[in-house]
Amino acid sequence: MSDACPKCQSTEVSLLKRPTSLGYQRFRCKRCRCTFNERSGTVFNFLEYPTDLVLMVVRWRLRYCLSLRNLSEMMLERGFEFE
Ligand SMILES: [Zn+2]
Repeated sequence: MSDACPKCQSTEVSLLKRPTSLGYQRFRCKRCRCTFNERSGTVFNFLEYPTDLVLMVVRWRLRYCLSLRNLSEMMLERGFEFE
């Protein structure tokens, strides 16, 4: 779960009203006051694409040997441009 502060590990966090631009839930730590989201502290944090979409593209690329053009078409269907 991602409801512990990535900086101080406190689980005393509150859910913020506004999600990130990709729709991930944001939290504020009540102990150290930092804000973080569901992906903070993961390798996906700085991606500009949703985690599930990245995982799907990687899986399909490995499973079906799709070309990058095929993959960018798939992402476009989800509303993301990718080259
Ligand atoms: Zn904290």
